[in-house]
Amino acid sequence: MRKILFNDITLRDGEQSPGVNFFPEEKLEIARQLVRMGLPIIEAGFAVASDSDWKGVNLIARELGGQPGAPVICSMARAHHKDIDAAHQALRPALRPRIQVVLATSDLHLEHKLKISREECLARTRESVAHARSLVEDVEFAAEDATRSDPAFLFQVFAAALEAGARTLEIPDTVGYAAPHEYGALVKAVLDNVPGAKDAVIATHCHDDLGLATANTLAGIAAGAGQAECTINGIGERAGNAPFEEVVMALKTRPGQWGAEADIDTRHIVETSRLVERLAGMAVAPNKAIVGGNAFRHESGIHQHGMLCNALTYQIISPESVGAGAFRLDLGKLSGRHALMTKAQSLGVTLDDQTFEAFHEAFKDLAAKKKMIVDDDVANLLKRFAPARA
Ligand code: MN
Repeated sequence: MRKILFNDITLRDGEQSPGVNFFPEEKLEIARQLVRMGLPIIEAGFAVASDSDWKGVNLIARELGGQPGAPVICSMARAHHKDIDAAHQALRPALRPRIQVVLATSDLHLEHKLKISREECLARTRESVAHARSLVEDVEFAAEDATRSDPAFLFQVFAAALEAGARTLEIPDTVGYAAPHEYGALVKAVLDNVPGAKDAVIATHCHDDLGLATANTLAGIAAGAGQAECTINGIGERAGNAPFEEVVMALKTRPGQWGAEADIDTRHIVETSRLVERLAGMAVAPNKAIVGGNAFRHESGIHQHGMLCNALTYQIISPESVGAGAFRLDLGKLSGRHALMTKAQSLGVTLDDQTFEAFHEAFKDLAAKKKMIVDDDVANLLKRFAPARA
C-alpha cells in the first residue's frame, strides 16, 4: 500500500497561529519529537521572515538534518530571489534541503493582492522554481489559493513548475473553502491534466475554516496525493490546519478506506501534542479527537459497562497506541453500578449487595448535585457505608 509522506508544518504554518511565537530552541525541541515519530519531512520555518525564523530553520537543519537518514528539512519562500536565497542559506547544513516556493494562482489573489497578470504569474513560477532548483535538488511548488483558482490556469502553472524542476506540487486549500469530494476531484484532475504530474508528488495542504481540513486531506489522499501537510493539534492560521494526529490515526485505523498508510510511530503523539500545547500556549479542547483530555474517558453507564466487558465496544483506537495511558471511567450521574463498584474496589472497599445498593442511591443523589465527581467524593461517601475500612 502507498505510504503517505507527512510534511509537518507546525513550525511554519502552525507558528502563524495568532499569538504563537516559537523560539529557535523550542522549534528544535518540537522537531526532535517529530523525528522520534518518524516524520519524513519537516517544514522548519520561513527563513526570510525574520532573524529568529532564519535561525530556527538553520538550527534544525544543523542539529537534525545533517545525519544520514535525516528527514528532509524545508523552508518556505515566496517566489522571490531574496526569499529563496535566504531559505537556501538557512538550509545549508541539511543533507536533504527542500525549498518550498509559494505563489498564488487565483484571480482574486493575482488581481487584488499581487497585482500581476496570469502571464506574469506563469513567468514568475518558471523563473523562481528554476532559481530554487539551481540551489537545491528538491523543490516543492505551492499554488496558494489553489481551490479558488481557475482549474485550467492552475494546471498550466503546475505544468510550468514541473518543467522548471519542481518535484512536489502542493494544492493548498488556503482558506478552508473546499468540500471533500471537490478536493479529491481536484487532486485527481491535477494528476490527469498536468503533464508529468504522475511522476511528481501531489501534496495536500488543507485549512479548517469549515471544520473540513481532515476530511479534505483524506479525500486528497484517497484521490492519489502522496504527501500530506499537517500540524500538531491542528494549530495554524485562523482555524488552523489539518491536525496530524487525526490524519495519521484515520490512516492507521482504516487504511483500506483511503488506499494508503502512515509509517509513523504513533506512540509519541500525545506527548508531542502536550509539548506543542505548552510551547504554543494554545490549549487543546477536551473533546479534540485523539489528543483531547476526554478522548479516552467514558462516563455513561452503558458505555462503562461495555468498556469493562471489552474495550472494543466503545473504543476504536487503543489509548496506548498514541501514548495516552489507559482508558478512564469517570463517575457522574449517568454512570452505572459496574463502574461505581470498580471504583469502590479500586479504593479498597468491597460492599455486600444490600449496602452497595444504598451506596449507589446515595452516589446518584450526590452526582446529580455536583458538576464533577472526583475520587475524594467517592471516598468520602464510602465512609458512610464502610466506616471501618475507609
Ligand atoms: Mn497554510
